[in-house]
Amino acid sequence: MTEPAESAELARIDPDETISLLQEMVQIPSPYFEEHELSEFVYDWLDSRDLDPEYHHVSEPKITEYEGDNVLARLEGSDPDAPTLLLNAHMDTVLLVEDWEEDPCSGRIEDGKLYGQGACDMKGGLAAVMVAFEALAESDVDLAGDIVLSAVVDEEGPYGLGTDRLIRDGYTDDYDAAIVTEPGPILAQEEDIDNPALLLGARGRFLYDIEVKGHAAHGSQPHKGTNAVVDAGKVADALSNLDVGSHPKLGDGSVCPLLLEGGSQTLSVPERAQLMVDRHVVLGETEEIVREQAEEAVAALDIESEVEIGFRESPDPGIKYGPYVTPEDHDLVTSLVGATESVAGVEPEFGYFASVGDFNYLGDRADLPTVIVGPDGENIHGAGEFVYTDEVVETARIVAEGAMRFVGSE
Ligand SMILES: [Zn+2]
Repeated sequence: MTEPAESAELARIDPDETISLLQEMVQIPSPYFEEHELSEFVYDWLDSRDLDPEYHHVSEPKITEYEGDNVLARLEGSDPDAPTLLLNAHMDTVLLVEDWEEDPCSGRIEDGKLYGQGACDMKGGLAAVMVAFEALAESDVDLAGDIVLSAVVDEEGPYGLGTDRLIRDGYTDDYDAAIVTEPGPILAQEEDIDNPALLLGARGRFLYDIEVKGHAAHGSQPHKGTNAVVDAGKVADALSNLDVGSHPKLGDGSVCPLLLEGGSQTLSVPERAQLMVDRHVVLGETEEIVREQAEEAVAALDIESEVEIGFRESPDPGIKYGPYVTPEDHDLVTSLVGATESVAGVEPEFGYFASVGDFNYLGDRADLPTVIVGPDGENIHGAGEFVYTDEVVETARIVAEGAMRFVGSE
């Protein structure tokens, strides 16, 4: 049952204000590594509502030379023993796609759809957590636990530097759980689920590179050399037929050789070839296991080339997209189920995310029970991306009420 206080919070979330906030943010281009303008916008939006935002600087001088700023804000609860909840959304989008038939940052609204790069992934979810946070701040209800809002940079880039920095700087140490408002069912593994839905986990992902070193000889006498290109092909084939792990909720792991290059234009037996392999993993498949498995598969081939397997260089050894599953009976899940029933009048479906993102950092590295709940749309990362505006408002309401239920109130 919805209690009167909760209804008042929901009433504060105004659909028109929510969608015009979303539209303004879609009209500010923010491909990863270029979020400065949107960062400032989010800061100013919170500041003008006296929500005490702070910038949290993100610097990665080693590989990407990136400098940017997350924006954080915190509502203090009245009970130090009550749980602290993180609301996390990323501000960046993929690079603007060229195939758009209109301005990719138009924010045009038609038939309940708002168009633009990042509209669904995930400025819709960002707008939802911002208005939910504001509604909670303005509420007359005395929240018991704390609620933290983090609008982060660089989720779409190669390393997820914004949320990574949040974890490495110790911010997440005192958090108890996280909500990430990434697009929902559209990116779930289950094809038949619809919003309202809660995604309770995700597979993890490792990328590895394989160096194949053969032995050159005159191309007219291939038997005198060791052909690295031929051997790399055998390795790619063996890896794509690996027996991978399986999990009752996350489904199966997967292996996909993404790139194979090498060889020479001259009349020589190719000496070198490289492979890049994507490996999606389920719980229990660690980096060590993935490496051993690949090494065993290569050893079983009995090829003459030397084969070396290495994981991607990253700015920090901690940067890993591990898999996680949040238990269905965790307090955050039951709080969000209750909120969904109250807001949407139906029970949410449960699903699991198909790929990786900041939620892996929170669910696995920071060890926070993490739930994804977010508005759906279509053409994510592509031309014609849009989000359903009513789902943005619904997400904001579910998050506000779910957060209140989870941290408790007096
Ligand atoms: Zn995203």
